[in-house]
This record gives sequence, C-alpha cells and structure tokens, in this order.
Amino acid sequence: MQILDGKKLSAEIKAEIADTVKKMVLSGKKAPHLAAILVGNDGASRTYVASKVKSCEEVGFKSTLIRLESDITQNELITQINQLNNDDSIDGFIVQLPLPKHIDEEKILLAIAPEKDVDGFHPMNVGRMTLHLPSYISATPKGILEMLNRYNIETEGKHCVVIGRSNIVGLPMSLLMQRRSQPGNCTVTICHSKTNDLSKYTLEADIIIAALGKPKFLTADMVKPGAVVIDVGITRVDDASTKSGFRLYGDVDFENVSKKCSFISPVPGGVGLMTVASLLQNTLSAANEEFYKKTIDFSVDNI
Ligand code: NAD
Repeated sequence: MQILDGKKLSAEIKAEIADTVKKMVLSGKKAPHLAAILVGNDGASRTYVASKVKSCEEVGFKSTLIRLESDITQNELITQINQLNNDDSIDGFIVQLPLPKHIDEEKILLAIAPEKDVDGFHPMNVGRMTLHLPSYISATPKGILEMLNRYNIETEGKHCVVIGRSNIVGLPMSLLMQRRSQPGNCTVTICHSKTNDLSKYTLEADIIIAALGKPKFLTADMVKPGAVVIDVGITRVDDASTKSGFRLYGDVDFENVSKKCSFISPVPGGVGLMTVASLLQNTLSAANEEFYKKTIDFSVDNI
C-alpha cells in the first residue's frame, strides 16, 4: 500500500508555482493576485481562508482578504463582488462558503465574473468543464486529478465509484473521471444518500472517491483488495485531549482500509492540501492572458 501524500505533492506544486511567479516578475509582469471574501466568523472557514492567504504568500502571489460582518445584506455582498469583478489588479477571487443563511449562495456564485471564478463554481465554468472546454475546475476535484496524475495511477478502463453528489466535489469529480483524458476514461458510478446497497458498488470499484462527510464511513469490508481509495471527507470531531479541542476525520476507516488497498490518501495530509494547491494553480491561470482569453472566448473557433 502506498500513501498518496498530499503534503509532499502540494509542496512540489507550490515550488513549481513559486518558480513561475519568480520568472513572471523578472520579465516585468506583475505577480498573480488572489482576493478572498470571508463573511462572518465561522471557525473552519477562518482556518481555510487563512491557509489560502498563507499559501499565496509562500508562492509570491499578492493576496487580499476582505472580511465582512455576518449581518451584511446580500446586495452589499454583491456590490463588493462587483468591485472585485471590475478591479483589474485582481486576477481571481473566491467567496468562502458556507455563507450565512439569509444570503442566497447561488445568487452570489452567479455574481462572480466567470473569468475571475478561480473556485470554478460559476455555472459557466461548470458547464465548460462538463464539455471539456477551457475552464476553471473546482479546486478539490482538480487536486484529486493532480494526485492521480502525479502518482501515475492508471485510470483508463477502470471502474470509479464516487460517493457523494455535491456540486463542489462529488458531481464534478464523477464527470471528470469519465472524460476522455488521463486521469479519466473511467466507467463511473455515482452513489449518494439514496443509493441502496452501497457496498455492491464499492466492492466492484477499482477507484473509490469518498466525499460524503461521515467519519470512517468506508470500512474495509466495502473495499476490493488492491483498490485506490481517495478520502475527501474532513469532519471536525470534538476531542478535549488535543490542543485545538477537535480532531479531523476522513470518510474512510484508514487503519483497516489501508491494509487492503493499493493507494490511499490520508486525512489530514491528503486531498485538503491539494485543494489549496489547485486554487493557486487556477489563480496562476487567471493571471495568464492566453488562458483568460480562451476561458471567456465562446466563438466556435475556440471549441
Ligand atoms: P455535502 O454534504 O454537500 O454532500 C454530501 C454528499 O454525500 C451528498 O451528495 C449525499 O447524497 C452523500 N451522502 C450522504 N450520506 C450518504 C450515505 N450514507 N451514503 C452515500 N452517500 C451519502 O458535502 P460536500 O461539500 O460534498 O463535502 C463532503 C465531505 O468532503 C465533507 O466532509 C467536507 O468537509 C469534505 N470536503 C473536503 C474538501 C477538501 O479540500 N478536502 C473540500 C470540500 C469538501
């Protein structure tokens, strides 16, 4: 069994990005600039945004964190988004989810200019990703593709079972794994909360991508020997014995599944770190004029 080491890979990707940024700056271009909007005071969201901002600094990007009160109105938030859409010094930006209940997330995602939507959540980017056109691929699925690619895991002709169908992980992941590319070319089964007899599918899977948010859900008896197991889940469970007061758990019973599979990503130290690295890659693309043009050019010549 081999560990899919997100820490090592993300460090590798960040070093590559830092190198590119250095060359950009030496050639007279400006460093890529990522902005993040954080609404409210949610502990997990604060941690995620802080790690994104820190990663920007590590690779030489400029970053701007915009913190807004949790009682901000939807219209005020949209005004802030429009300012970023129109600010030429910002290459890409994200709005950290989840948002407070009184704000309609769908409307907020629609307000982001697709060419600055480095989280890849705008319907335009999701649609273009589905059609295999230039687009920003959302960070977590993109990070998983990168992980499969950098560990040379052959996916062609394999049966991939994705557990979870959310717009940010399960659904795009299932679409990406069947695309005509490497990684890709899989036969994909997408399972969700209404799937009957889930084990029937997971036991036939060569690759399992678990993204449901239920600690240690995928147990060894659900996994075929030699399968590749990617654990996307991150759940905070209270634990007074730790300094932070909580412990992070994945969706996979790592201890027992790892004895049976060929590759496995740990939590922490797996997909989560790849997600941040992918966001940086998307921001680098956003700062690249050629990519930007392709992403917003809808002429037939470009398809
Ligand atoms: P979500 O709650 O939006 O979706 C969960 C999905 O799991 C749903 O589609 C649901 O149908 C499915 N599901 C729930 N119970 C199930 C069951 N018993 N059997 C089969 N399917 C079931 O969650 P999400 O946003 O997709 O996130 C999933 C997990 O991944 C969470 O733990 C989240 O924290 C984590 N996550 C991690 C990263 C990262 O960077 N590593 C990024 C995003 C999400």
